[in-house]
Amino acid sequence: MRRLAPLLLALTLCPLAHADEAGAARALEQARSNPWLLRQFMATFPKGGDLHNHLDGSIYAENIIGWASADGKCVDPASGQISFPPCDTARPLMKDYAADSARYSQLVDAYSVRNYERGSKSGHDQTFVTFGRFIPGTLGREGDMLREATNRRGAENTVYLELLQSWGMDKARAIAAAEAGAFRADRPTSDWAHHPALQRIVADTRAELDRIEKRWRELAHCNQANAEPGCGVALRYLAQVIRTFPPEQVNAQIALAFLLVKADPRYVGLNLVAPEDDPGTLRHYKEQMSVIGRLSKLYPEVKVTLHAGEFGFGLVPPEDFKDHIRQALDVAGARRIGHGEAIGLETGAFDTLREMAKRGVMVEINLTSNAIVHDLKGDQHPFLLYRQFGVPTALSADDEGVFRIDLTNEYQRAAATYPKLSYRDFKQLSRNALHYGFVEGQALLADTGSGRFVASCTGERTGAEPKTARCRDFLSTHTKARLQWDLEARFARFESQVH
Ligand SMILES: [Zn+2]
Repeated sequence: MRRLAPLLLALTLCPLAHADEAGAARALEQARSNPWLLRQFMATFPKGGDLHNHLDGSIYAENIIGWASADGKCVDPASGQISFPPCDTARPLMKDYAADSARYSQLVDAYSVRNYERGSKSGHDQTFVTFGRFIPGTLGREGDMLREATNRRGAENTVYLELLQSWGMDKARAIAAAEAGAFRADRPTSDWAHHPALQRIVADTRAELDRIEKRWRELAHCNQANAEPGCGVALRYLAQVIRTFPPEQVNAQIALAFLLVKADPRYVGLNLVAPEDDPGTLRHYKEQMSVIGRLSKLYPEVKVTLHAGEFGFGLVPPEDFKDHIRQALDVAGARRIGHGEAIGLETGAFDTLREMAKRGVMVEINLTSNAIVHDLKGDQHPFLLYRQFGVPTALSADDEGVFRIDLTNEYQRAAATYPKLSYRDFKQLSRNALHYGFVEGQALLADTGSGRFVASCTGERTGAEPKTARCRDFLSTHTKARLQWDLEARFARFESQVH
């Protein structure tokens, strides 16, 4: 205990006002001796962003049960499946069923991976089966969901959040299902872009988003003295296409995603989600990449990040994991890759890694998710391989409610698992999570490793007001630069307190 006591004092009491990076680096090394010190260190460590966070998966089971109870929804005791009223004896009211604490506990397990090791299901199957069970409990509670997702990031000292959500996608699928052939891959993509029904969905989804954000801001008391921490998080969205539906329905969703990003500045990009190892995804992966590539030619300003190479060895035949990341880069033009676990299994992986480093394609690393879903841990994970080749990486939460984690946990896990990662490496990981975000505007940083500013703000001191009109103008013009300025100020504050 003798060794730990000075650090504990430093974490809480140090009154010094000057930033001391070397001192913070020493504090990190000391904190590594004990998981709870490390947790405390990483909880307040400034985080640039979270670029891979599914809104549905970010919700903790306890809140879903609470909302379903208050909203009069029903639950199937055998599976935990939530459904809409009227309820009956086979599907009693959630309010009544969950009143018993043993049943309540079973439901928490059913909507997450809590205790999954004790059951018969793999982490992969348990993770993916939860969504269908609990999503009906979240419908109508989208404002509450934003509140939960943003508050957790705000409380963890995070500047920026890119949330993946699928609002409107069910309607796009319904159109494709009703109009056979309209969204076949051999049809011109410009027809899809001007499809009147898709245009209507864009307008409806934007109006729905207005209502959801308004509800969130009311719940969280944003712009009031008692504003919750989530109000201070810069929030943008990625339109999330569910890739496991029939091809024409996937194509209609992809077209809607492009149109949403084009129409509404709150949407900054798109992504494809749901199991990549699903037989339907494997069959149509090539077509999905090609459709994105073709729509990107029509809308080159729309940014794309893709779940790709989300495999462990043996999950699918070798032919299926040999080039998914490569296709996402070359055919779909992805600017970021989510997971990328299978990079070491791909044909010509070293060329791909060099190409990613050259193009600045960042990988969204989800350590806990990969450990649970694919049992990929420690040296088996390609995190360090990406870093070795100079490919930018950042840490993200993925489905924090389902995995029962938060973003702090991912920083803590990285520090404990990879002892060679230094304090400066963590600063770079944190900066990358904002620098490679799709938020509008130019970047403040010329280099995320050193934190060097671009010419407009050269010579400025972090943590202070910008001295020159040129830098002030630059920051007021470019949102991304302004958020990065804020992150550097948070580092200065953190380093003045923890050493
Ligand atoms: Zn994901």
